[in-house]
Amino acid sequence: MAVVALVIVVLLAIHADLVENVCCENGTKLLLVSMDGFRWDYVKTARTPNFRSLAARGVFAEHINSSFVTKTFPNHYTIATGLYEESHGIISNRMYDPVFDQKAGYGSIRSKWWEGEPIWVTARRQGLKSATYFWPGSEWEINGFRPNYWVRYNKKHKFKRRVDKVMQWLTKDNVTMATLYFHEPDSTGHRYGPGSRQVREKVEEMDNMLGYIMEQFTSNNLWATTNLIVTSDHGMADMDLKNKIIDISKIISIKNDINFTLDSGAFMQIFPKTSAIDIVDNLNSPNLEMTAYLKENIPEIWHYKNHRRIAPIIIVANEGWAVVKTKPTYSSKGTHGYDNNLQSMKPIFYAAGPSFKTGYGAGPFHVVDIYPLMCKILGIDPAPNNGSLSHVMPLLLPEKTTEQEVKQKEIKQNKVKQKEVKQVGSGGVGTYFSIIFGILCHIFTRVFRVM
Ligand SMILES: [Zn+2]
Repeated sequence: MAVVALVIVVLLAIHADLVENVCCENGTKLLLVSMDGFRWDYVKTARTPNFRSLAARGVFAEHINSSFVTKTFPNHYTIATGLYEESHGIISNRMYDPVFDQKAGYGSIRSKWWEGEPIWVTARRQGLKSATYFWPGSEWEINGFRPNYWVRYNKKHKFKRRVDKVMQWLTKDNVTMATLYFHEPDSTGHRYGPGSRQVREKVEEMDNMLGYIMEQFTSNNLWATTNLIVTSDHGMADMDLKNKIIDISKIISIKNDINFTLDSGAFMQIFPKTSAIDIVDNLNSPNLEMTAYLKENIPEIWHYKNHRRIAPIIIVANEGWAVVKTKPTYSSKGTHGYDNNLQSMKPIFYAAGPSFKTGYGAGPFHVVDIYPLMCKILGIDPAPNNGSLSHVMPLLLPEKTTEQEVKQKEIKQNKVKQKEVKQVGSGGVGTYFSIIFGILCHIFTRVFRVM
């Protein structure tokens, strides 16, 4: 009798937990994770069992294509809005706006600069709760909305603390979509270079953090209701500040020709005092490892031309080279901001959860496609954007899955789970209990979703 009572209590507890976490009439929950500067091939050079496990559980692309310019704020806001940089207006980490007659960068980019509609606003406008543990743009009111919960950026916040808070939002605070941002392995990549031992170790640390996120998904029964996307904003290239420097002050007069510049290294914005055509001609006349473009001649493929904040002249260095106007006083062995078509500039993409296929390897797509994908799995209407849902539909399970397909997915996922359990190496009674518990959870999820 006591055993029957215990079983009933356990089943009721599971029921309550599942009912709390089942949501969304037409969609599922979503956690969007960014690990800054996570180059696509880092998973091959470091020990990353949790990324492998996530790929087996869901979908992955060997790499995806960032937007140009391959910098942090522009690309994070492209992920959030599905808009090219010329469409959302965050055209670099630092910008000048001729209408505002103001400069802004990083933390000083106020509400009026953020155009388009980020996913946390799209979700809120359609009645869902959204939350952000850091994301460029998330600290400012956009179109009259902020996320329901958000956190002022502070890189000192411990990574685990960030995960724990996001889990609380998803499990206790009825949040449907959340973002989670880590500034690594970008910082280590800049300091030591993408091929360094330090980056390899940092990537392994981030893989551990991914393992912690996945454990939390399992222990909170989130896999049945919540999709997890793990991606990044750009890659990282080697930089050699001793031998591969292009100093534009040796070609043009900084004092006479230039009003001011923004950015340096892989990319530079020039606001000229004198004729932009003459400056570009002068910059391009020596055979240097860079190209200077008049705004109107910037290649169409970059979708980086039609915004008032894009500088009259931009310089894009060749891979590995740095454009400067004074000798750099800092030391750095890695950078990004180059042509987004370079392999070194491409980031990762992984996703798993109830909307995604299992063990599916996708072809590369563009970061603008992530926004319509997120809207689709949340069951909300996207704002106008540059992405194409058709590019990412192959990642998703067909909407009307037959019972047989659902069973096949469950069998596959159970196999993955069993493997994970074995890898953890708990063995014995615990292992079998975990498997039985997993199967029970699946059955209950199916039952309560139908309800
Ligand atoms: Zn970045």
